[in-house]
Amino acid sequence: MSKNNIDSIEIAKFSDRAAHWWDLDGQFKSLHEINPIRLAYINERAPLQGKSVIDIGCGGGILAESMAKFEAKVTGIDMSEAALNVAKLHQLESKTQIEYLLTTAETIAAERPQQYDIVTCLEMLEHVPDPLSIIRAAAALVKPNGHLFFSTINRNMKAYLFAIVGAEYILKLLPQRTHDFDKFIRPSELTAWARQANLQVADMAGINYNIFSKKYSLTDDVSVNYLMHLTQ
Ligand code: SAH
Repeated sequence: MSKNNIDSIEIAKFSDRAAHWWDLDGQFKSLHEINPIRLAYINERAPLQGKSVIDIGCGGGILAESMAKFEAKVTGIDMSEAALNVAKLHQLESKTQIEYLLTTAETIAAERPQQYDIVTCLEMLEHVPDPLSIIRAAAALVKPNGHLFFSTINRNMKAYLFAIVGAEYILKLLPQRTHDFDKFIRPSELTAWARQANLQVADMAGINYNIFSKKYSLTDDVSVNYLMHLTQ
């Protein structure tokens, strides 16, 4: 696993936007809008109630809080202190009890091996220098027979048009330069990394955005945003 698997420019980008994390109409609007469907996907495949969960790259805590509301015992980690401060403040309001830590996946994996029933790492792999190192750390954190969930963006012409040109420049769903096309990850690449970390692909699902209804839904089409469920 990498020791310095952090892109400080990426972390600074998220820190600069941290104050807007819980603005439902702000820069993280699309994370708020996709959260119910990704939460339902996770909870359906690995029921959250009573489970220990670690959320890698939790940011301001959108997913972490929603999993805590399903009565999971959640640890959220991130390398943006500003995002974690927002997360800690917000949970006073939402009355959740999440353990938030400023640490890396690699560090906590060495400290807490096989301690979590479920590992989640959504919309984060495309922001790190070495995604395989994160996947290896996630594999080390999960208990035997546990579940892992990743999400990211596919790398092809359609993903470029939808996730960058459409989302950042035309529809302005995301701030410009949120994503770097070269860092997008094909499902075949994520699958190959999963195998290298001794994980199996249990399922894959796409997230579709309907530009007319402005609604997100799950789909079999993984050509743009997608979720992957891995097991040991
Ligand atoms: N997972 C959350 C937030 C996604 S935004 C959600 O889907 O709602 C990506 C997050 O990853 C940001 O908060 C950023 O600070 C964090 N991040 C990026 N690189 C990281 C690293 N190397 N270690 C930990 N967190 C990282």
